[in-house]
Amino acid sequence: MTAQLIDGNALASSVRAEVAHRVQALKARGVQPRLSIILVGENSASQVYVRSKVADSEQTGLAATLERYPAELTEAELLARIATLNADPAVHGILVQLPLPAHMNANAVIEAIAPAKDVDGFHVASAGALMVGQPGFRPCTPYGCMRMLESIGLRDLKGKHAVVIGRSNIVGKPMAMMLLAANATVTICHSGTPDLGALTRQADIVVAAVGKRKVLTADMIKPGAVVIDVGMNRDDAGKLCGDVDFAGVQAVAGWITPVPGGVGPMTRAMLLVNTLEAAESATPP
Ligand code: NAP
Repeated sequence: MTAQLIDGNALASSVRAEVAHRVQALKARGVQPRLSIILVGENSASQVYVRSKVADSEQTGLAATLERYPAELTEAELLARIATLNADPAVHGILVQLPLPAHMNANAVIEAIAPAKDVDGFHVASAGALMVGQPGFRPCTPYGCMRMLESIGLRDLKGKHAVVIGRSNIVGKPMAMMLLAANATVTICHSGTPDLGALTRQADIVVAAVGKRKVLTADMIKPGAVVIDVGMNRDDAGKLCGDVDFAGVQAVAGWITPVPGGVGPMTRAMLLVNTLEAAESATPP
């Protein structure tokens, strides 16, 4: 078997087109959806990420404002700025790019964002809403993974066993909750899980969110399974690669996401969806 590709670039492009359409509808009602992005310090990866978030936003008609502050900014100053943005009705989404400088308490900063503007979905109110099945912003990476599953007809996952490798607050745990909400039977694995392969071989869906190359190899996959690769690593040649041994797993799986061109573009697209929905929710009918 050669797995079919779930093309994140193509899917993200259709998500962006849908966002652009709905943005136009809001603009016709006099509302300009707006995302405020805050970057503190000079982290080079963060600078690339925020630039692409601004470009993606502008491409779909969302307004994005990037505020850059020196690494010496105090936590109190950042909290005060967030409070101002919270109170500004023209701002619908607020995103504080992580990581923050070491002198700041990232949790306190994220909790300062109004839950109605928490388009990253990292606030405890968003996490709690996901946990209890209430509406709220979903973290963009697992949200994008769910869209990828839906794109291949996997919406109700009743009867499916999903294995999530990784338990971070921004990927693994919310991913598991979303799969559970879609009626899958879910197993969460982590660095202390003995015999990972014994679990993944039972899975209809495997999501790898680890950050290590070749965590998932062909012998660990049930023939025909769906494999979603969240990982972002560099191979020996310095090329971007995921957690999955792509060449080997592709020969066994039914569906697989590539890296690059898989989960990454969908993560970016789902931030636009969250920002749009924040603006739609703030707009009276
Ligand atoms: P993280 O916070 O470092 O979490 C990694 C998880 O993997 C932890 O739960 C860890 O277990 C587990 N783990 C480590 N080694 C393992 C092993 N050998 N077997 C099983 N589990 C193992 O990372 P993250 O923020 O969730 O990100 C994970 C990966 O996704 C990274 O490569 C990141 O760059 C990528 N990512 C991609 C996107 C995207 O848009 N494509 C977005 C976000 C993240 P413990 O909890 O026991 O330590």
